[in-house]
Amino acid sequence: MQFQGRLTKAGTTALVGATLRVADAGEGGATLILTRADMAGSTPVTIAHVLPKVGGGDLRLRLSTGDVLRLPADMDTAPLERFFPEPARLGSWLTRLETVGWRGVLLLSVLFLLALAGLRLAIAPAGDFLARLIPDTLVERASGLVLAQLDLALLEDSRLPDETRQRLTGEFERLRLLAPPAFADTRLHFRHAPAIGPNAFALPGHDIVLLDELVTFANDEDVVLAVLAHEFGHVVEQHALRQIMRSAVVAIAVGMIVGADESVIEEIVGFGGNLVLSSQSRAFELEADHVSADWMQRLGRDAGALPRFFSKLQQECGGLCDGGGLLATHPSFRNRIEALTN
Ligand SMILES: [Zn+2]
Repeated sequence: MQFQGRLTKAGTTALVGATLRVADAGEGGATLILTRADMAGSTPVTIAHVLPKVGGGDLRLRLSTGDVLRLPADMDTAPLERFFPEPARLGSWLTRLETVGWRGVLLLSVLFLLALAGLRLAIAPAGDFLARLIPDTLVERASGLVLAQLDLALLEDSRLPDETRQRLTGEFERLRLLAPPAFADTRLHFRHAPAIGPNAFALPGHDIVLLDELVTFANDEDVVLAVLAHEFGHVVEQHALRQIMRSAVVAIAVGMIVGADESVIEEIVGFGGNLVLSSQSRAFELEADHVSADWMQRLGRDAGALPRFFSKLQQECGGLCDGGGLLATHPSFRNRIEALTN
């Protein structure tokens, strides 16, 4: 069995004709033999890596010699697949879905859904386990970098009067006293961001960002404190980091199924950034709501402030805030008010 293609020699861009041949049983069984047009004789090789196919293009194989062999897209390369390294074999198995017929697609879909269901159950514990392995110093550095990125892209310096900021910093101190010692150094950052609207968020480390727009919109310091306590809940439960590690687990698992390369890492990084602003899971939100209610009570402050804020958002911001934009993945306000008042 012969496969004729073109070979890019390791470290060059020069192309030469080459043939890959499956050795006969007499020649040592199932090995591959490479013959190059520019060299006499032939060498046994293995396939080190199957390069990702670019839009129906040639199949590109990196061989154990470092050379890259291109085989035409229309060539039947299926008999070569048993020589592919493990993950690529899985990947090509998926890209060939169209050749297996509708029964095959149906069967594969069911298997895929079952695998996905299994994966779903594993995501949270695996992500949380990874989150515990990340050293604090690294998390703190990442948190600072995320804030620097947000400052470049979205956030401006706070325009609140100094007096207001000082008062809120004083209130925040009281929250810090309630936090477990490991989180007592949590910092409050004031920012202005008309594009985001009334919001506050916790970064992966010990950082909370409060937007001027929330302070102005709420117009009620118990509410602002309740929101800060909610964000503090995200910090002490390490929700942002756990969420990022959970999405990393998803990206890695997807990579293992469809064939991984560097883009997976980019995916994780991009994903992580988005998550900070938009994608706290429902369970995390409810957990943070309860930390807020608990701490407000311990401070002797109005425990009804957070539900009041949700009602106000619901009334004045309506569907816009309760289903779209930055709060898209939060539980609906009605659910959260119910959870807090029951
Ligand atoms: Zn939240």
